[in-house]
Amino acid sequence: MSELTGKVALITGATRGIGHAISLELSAAGARIAVVARSAERAREVAAALPGEGHQGYGCDVADPAQAQATVSSTETDVGPVDILVNNAGITRDNLLVRMKDEEFDEVIATNLKGAFNFTRAVSKGMMKRRDGVILNMTSVVGLTGNAGQANYSASKAGLIGLTKSVAKELAARGVRCNAIAPGFIRTDMTDQLTETQVQGLLAQIPAGRLGEVSDVAALVRFLAGPGARYITGQVLAVDGGMVM
Ligand code: NAP
Repeated sequence: MSELTGKVALITGATRGIGHAISLELSAAGARIAVVARSAERAREVAAALPGEGHQGYGCDVADPAQAQATVSSTETDVGPVDILVNNAGITRDNLLVRMKDEEFDEVIATNLKGAFNFTRAVSKGMMKRRDGVILNMTSVVGLTGNAGQANYSASKAGLIGLTKSVAKELAARGVRCNAIAPGFIRTDMTDQLTETQVQGLLAQIPAGRLGEVSDVAALVRFLAGPGARYITGQVLAVDGGMVM
């Protein structure tokens, strides 16, 4: 028996990169996983390939409150009540401020920030009733520091920190914990878009001297989701090789 045996974890953006690594890590820890992404086909494929039994994949645009609610309801029916929510789905639409289009700003806020709100609201009532639950929000170090060319993305990630702390204060007395994880630069499809010069520039700012791996982030999620973190709430934990301290 592992520490998350019998638990149900709903993970958004779980078909690639960090979210996929979290699905592998939490299923290895014994949880049944609801894999959520816009591509339903890919979500089902990923769920079917996870170790253990009882996982399901769902197609859902996290930015749509009705789809988020429906996905939580389907998870409750097919897999079980959600014990662990990981709001991981995120996108970038980088541009310099003066060139940034309304759609670029709105789309990033809708997915990264409103998406997390949609799922948090949808799972909270059940968690409060059961007096047990863990909510984890995937922010970013740029939510702490800001970043040129990422006004939309940094604002969405800073917003997630405010959401995390408010939810933590509101739900702590009902046995629900809420924390944020702030990855630095992790090797995924998102960071594969960086040029070699950009990567070299980043490495100069990372005391650990390497980009992060998805497994570095997943290991922290496993800890925060488990019983060892029972007295930790409202925190922002960076996984960044010492980049921001
Ligand atoms: P990724 O490889 O681009 O994967 C993104 C995942 O999110 C995919 O599964 C994608 O599947 C899903 N997704 C995107 N938009 C969605 C939507 N509207 N509704 C539902 N699912 C959606 O991203 P990643 O690099 O692993 O990043 C994961 C999270 O970590 C993001 O929140 C990101 O901001 C954060 N982060 C990443 C880094 C990094 O260095 N990589 C650093 C700091 C923070 P579909 O396309 O099928 O929807």
